[in-house]
Amino acid sequence: MDTTAAVNELKEHVATLCADNRRPRSSGHKRTQDFLCDYIASCGLEVQVQHFFAIPFGQCKNIYTETGDKDSLQPRLLVGAHYDTRGSSGPGADDNASAVAIVMALLARAKNDVPMTFVLFDYEETFGYGGTKGSRAFAAQYNKPISKAIILDLVGGALMPGFEDVYFQFGPALPCLQSEHLDFHHLPMLFVEPIGTCVPRSDYGRFRKFGVPFTFISSGTPWYYHTANDVPEMLHYDKMAHLLACLCECLLGHASPQVLVHEPDWSRFSEIVDKIRAVPAFDDRFFHALAASRDGPSRLSMLRMYFKVLPVLKRLGPDLWD
Ligand SMILES: [Zn+2]
Repeated sequence: MDTTAAVNELKEHVATLCADNRRPRSSGHKRTQDFLCDYIASCGLEVQVQHFFAIPFGQCKNIYTETGDKDSLQPRLLVGAHYDTRGSSGPGADDNASAVAIVMALLARAKNDVPMTFVLFDYEETFGYGGTKGSRAFAAQYNKPISKAIILDLVGGALMPGFEDVYFQFGPALPCLQSEHLDFHHLPMLFVEPIGTCVPRSDYGRFRKFGVPFTFISSGTPWYYHTANDVPEMLHYDKMAHLLACLCECLLGHASPQVLVHEPDWSRFSEIVDKIRAVPAFDDRFFHALAASRDGPSRLSMLRMYFKVLPVLKRLGPDLWD
């Protein structure tokens, strides 16, 4: 894949998606729905829409398209990302135009002889009534068997200095992704769900509930997460283009499938903690002990890590890189 061309393609999608915010029922949200439908049609694919009702917005819309024989009951590989934003997220470039852009690029490259379903979910964010409503409606009502659900959320950022090439991969559906340009960390769910499975961090949770094997890929929640600074200029487009190349190879069958099994483990967790400790604000006894825990952290220390890291990331902001 030509990286420069892919970078330009992803940049263009993100710029269009971020022309204004995508809070449900806003004009930007409506414009985004039209844009996504037009884009799918322009790829020669059939636009499908699933309406569902959710408080406080009323009618919401999942937008999807299918490749392969539509009448076949052969299980389909689903790839999905949410397109809505919180009001506080500004244009929501990382959360989640980044992942929508990748799903758009994937569906444009999909072969029509492989049964896949590409979904752009509405209403993933919480608006005071719980989140992941779009994927809940889709997982409950979609009438074709799903073999695997691949969910992307926040895939354009760097958690903090040292994480510029890092992606986190969770869940059993895909083999360990590998790329010469990227560093994939294959971690147990505890890393992303310190509170437990009752609080899924993105749309994968609804598929897990129905017993569908899932994979969740994210670059994490950087300092600008859910703030007005989540703008297109913050994204690492080369990183996104490398992820796209990797997913094309793994999902679209453009190359021989990898045979590696996804085995999450904590063996590289201390490396992650060392990168976190490189930020002076985090170089304390807690992180020192965490880096030394060979079998991985307890749920309690994972939770403590969240509460210690996220507010400081927000407070330091771009100064982290100085
Ligand atoms: Zn999100």
